This record gives sequence, C-alpha cells and structure tokens, in this order.
Amino acid sequence: MARCWGVIPAAGSGSRMGLSEPKQHRVLGGKTLLGHSLDALLRLPGMLGVVIALAADDPRASDYRGLDERVHVVSGGAQRADSVLAALRFLQKIAYDDDWVLVHDAARPCLTPADGERLVAEVLAHGGGGLLAEPLVDTLKRVDADGLVQATVDRRGLWRAQTPQMFPLVPLQQALSAALAAGVDVTDEASAMEWGGNPVRVVPGSPRNFKVTVPGDLELAAFYLGLAGGAGE
Ligand code: C5P
Repeated sequence: MARCWGVIPAAGSGSRMGLSEPKQHRVLGGKTLLGHSLDALLRLPGMLGVVIALAADDPRASDYRGLDERVHVVSGGAQRADSVLAALRFLQKIAYDDDWVLVHDAARPCLTPADGERLVAEVLAHGGGGLLAEPLVDTLKRVDADGLVQATVDRRGLWRAQTPQMFPLVPLQQALSAALAAGVDVTDEASAMEWGGNPVRVVPGSPRNFKVTVPGDLELAAFYLGLAGGAGE
C-alpha cells in the first residue's frame, strides 16, 4: 500500500461566512468542520498521519493535537500556500521523500471514502499527481460590473477543482516554493504543479464534496453527513 500523508490548511479567517470564529471551527453534530474533514482523510487506506496548519494564535490547536497520535499541528503562514508549505516542512522530518501527500480543504467535511479511494487509486495507477474535480454542467456567462451578460463561455473541458489534491512530497514542496517565489497566484496545490510543468490529472469527484463557504451551506453539509436536525450544534 502506498504511503500517504494528509495536509489540511486551516489557518485562514473564513471571512466569507461572516462569523466571529473561522468557519473550520464551526460545529456540526458535535464535531467541527475541520474535525469531519480530518476524519475523512484519516479513514483513507495508507494514511500515516495528517498535519493541520492552524493560525499561530488559534486556541483550538491543543484540541486537535490530543485527538489521535496520527494528528500533528503546525502554525500556518500568510497565504494558503504558505500554510501548506509549513505542513510539508514538518512532513520532511518524518516522511520519506517519495511519500504521497493529499492536501484537503478544512471546509470540505463531506468527502466520502469512495471519492478519496478513487483519487488515490487513479493517481497511483498513472503516476504524476491529481485532484478530485467535477465537470461543469451549467451554462457559463461572463458578466460585466453592471450585471449585463457579455458572453456565453464554452464550458467544454472546464472542471471545478476540489480537494484532496495528491502529489509526491518533494515535487509538491519544490513547486509551491518556486511558484510563491515567482509571485504566482497559487490558489490550490495543482496550480503550482501545473505552473512547474508537472502532469496533473483530474479524477471525477462528486457534488457531496463541496466547499462550505456561506452560512446556508452548513445545512447541506449536515444533510450529507447524515446529521438529523440540520446544522444545529
Ligand atoms: O479562503 P479559502 O476557502 O479559499 O481557504 C482555503 C483554505 O486555506 C481554508 O481552509 C483556510 O483556512 C486555508 N488558509 C490557510 N492559511 C492562510 C489562508 C487560508 O491555511 N493563510
């Protein structure tokens, strides 16, 4: 079985939720969104451990550190990519150079074992790296600042990137470092790998693995997680 590690960047403020607390700490069914995402990664075969990057002053750090011996916590950085790099630097101390890393959003608590296992199997079968993604099904409009449609965009070949995104440890670290140093806008790990000329494969995921972004999304997450009574704590 391939040696895999998880990384969860969770050092952001989650400002789009309009909450006083970062959205990853929002509780659903007695567990935070981050806790659900963490469990989903820990369930995957070959998963040796998960590194969570939290803000340096995050009071929840000790809650996660004590959860499971496979869970590690590091301090994140200024941007998501800096937080991922902090986790990768930690992994370099305990992992082999050719181990695999699955980077997963804290705000995707509904990742199913089937989707995660399909990603791992496909990436191992083809080599390189890959991510879960969904082909776009809606008609796309390019709209100006006044709300007027400028064009209908051809959606063929367009996919929505999800996580986990799976790459070998050292190439991922090198690509992220180089992309950041070059001033590239790195919104996910795949974009850094693509920029570095590495092959990146999409693996079909499912809509269940959506990113909880606005408060209304909590209800849908509770539904997918099988939590009776909706999004209450
Ligand atoms: O804002 P967005 O949803 O794209 O953030 C994606 C993830 O990156 C979140 O889990 C957030 O906590 C994390 N992040 C981070 N370090 C930062 C900024 C964001 O770990 N400095």
